Amino acid sequence: MTPRITSLNRPDVEREDLPVDVLVVGAGPAGLACAIQLKRDLDKRGDDERTVLVIDKAEEIGHHTLSGAVMNPRGIEELFPDWRERGFPVEAAVGDDWAEVLRPGGTQIALRGALCPPQLRNHGNLIVSLNKVTRWMAEQAEELGIEVYAGFPAAELCQDADGRVTGVITRDSGIAKDGAEKGTFEPGMRIQASVTVMAEGTRGSLAKQLFKDERLGLMTGRNPQTYGTGIKEIWQVTPEVGREMFGKVLHTGGYPLDTKAYGGSFIYGVSEDRLALGFVVGLDQGDAKLDPHALFVQWKQHPRIAGMLAGGKVLRYGAKTVPEGGYFSMPKLQADGLVLVGDTAGFLNAATLKGIHLAISSGIMAAQAIGEALIADDTSEAQLAKYTELFECSPAREELYGVRNYRQAFAKGLVAGTLDFGVQMITGGRGLKKRRTGHEDHECMQPLAKSKFQKPAFNDTDSLDKLTDVYLSGALHEEDQPSHLVVVDPTICVDRCTQEYGNPCQHFCPAAVYEWPEGTPEVVINASNCVHCKTCDIMDPYENIEWVVPEGGGGPKYVDM
Ligand code: SF4
Repeated sequence: MTPRITSLNRPDVEREDLPVDVLVVGAGPAGLACAIQLKRDLDKRGDDERTVLVIDKAEEIGHHTLSGAVMNPRGIEELFPDWRERGFPVEAAVGDDWAEVLRPGGTQIALRGALCPPQLRNHGNLIVSLNKVTRWMAEQAEELGIEVYAGFPAAELCQDADGRVTGVITRDSGIAKDGAEKGTFEPGMRIQASVTVMAEGTRGSLAKQLFKDERLGLMTGRNPQTYGTGIKEIWQVTPEVGREMFGKVLHTGGYPLDTKAYGGSFIYGVSEDRLALGFVVGLDQGDAKLDPHALFVQWKQHPRIAGMLAGGKVLRYGAKTVPEGGYFSMPKLQADGLVLVGDTAGFLNAATLKGIHLAISSGIMAAQAIGEALIADDTSEAQLAKYTELFECSPAREELYGVRNYRQAFAKGLVAGTLDFGVQMITGGRGLKKRRTGHEDHECMQPLAKSKFQKPAFNDTDSLDKLTDVYLSGALHEEDQPSHLVVVDPTICVDRCTQEYGNPCQHFCPAAVYEWPEGTPEVVINASNCVHCKTCDIMDPYENIEWVVPEGGGGPKYVDM
């Protein structure tokens, strides 16, 4: 079997050691909430010598965070009861919300008031930019004395012989494409921690290794995680449309998806001249030519959406996967020296498409458990299991358990899923089966011959092609470095995948990273375009693509997203 490459770091290099008490890997809402709560708890009991360090792979905090986003304020209220006075960034309070079913012929049916599905009602919620939210949270963390380092990707796990997590090694920099050390070579640091908080976000590259580590048993008895890929743009629209939509939330279902696929769209009025809009599609729908970006374009070409966008222009673009599996896909939340929070641990309600408040709550609960573990001088799994105890009694658990079978019920299509969801609503989330099982998304892929996917026509107004959109994501990586998209066995691509699935990587990647030019016998990987969405790592039918961290600072530069 071809060995898998999980890190591009140089082996056997002398490294600087940095000991800390608690290391948080990932400065998203979950990781930052954990650091803030923990530091406050430590300070309160006069334990201010402890070090809490947060590291993130983005060049600046917030550059790699992307969400719709409509936020349930419950999480931030729990972390900062005075969030309003502190200037927490809110674009708008949700003033009105409804859903529409788009029909292929260009018409739509509006579902307002009591007809709007309950999971899509958003009164009391806030329209936010997750990018601004994480920047604000990082400032709050720094004010408390927490070190927050941007541009430090965690590349390798440190574990002892029993599997206990003892920290991470950050990514080496200054390695050339051919693997040689450049004059600028700097080895990554070994950060040793009593507790490592894994907050990498969706499909974390280190969390993936931890889930496969049988010594830890993190996924034992759990459903595999299932994902959707979300594509998002921010639009400047005409003043008429901007004023009409400001503070409003519209979700659509139907076109361009057929009844077998799971997905839908959102449009949020973020200001009097801007809309945030996006489309999310489940990666289990099986078409080898599935192209989330193309679906997004088709959706924008529906007359209902095209009418809103007429006269406007795209300002920003991004893409990200969404962990949709829910309660039964969540891993065990702790192991020796380790806790998992936020999207990494599946804290997302797929029915409402909301996870920010759950991410923050997970960080708070994890911090409480870590604080007690530090006092007890015992950071074993048994001690950190306090986190699971807190979760099992929390509103977060109540919410997630209430939709525990939601996403899996849609695996057999929209009609079966809607019927089951109706039963779930009157059976406390149970539905027609006590516990639905899941699957890896890549296992659902059907042979190329069964593909029905049609590409849309692109234009330079409302239907930008991938490369133009990638430019608007700000994605950039140091060009002279080994590709962080590692094709484990290139012969599979040519000898099997071309025939069986038609090399789906060229379709599903929303950033045109994988190209198969006519007459070329191998894939061309434009790694610099990568927006770190992780779709390829999830969806390759042979699990032949390994997403590993690139040099620090590489990736998208999301602003206002
Ligand atoms: Fe997403 Fe993979 Fe494409 Fe990067 S290469 S944008 S992670 S699908």
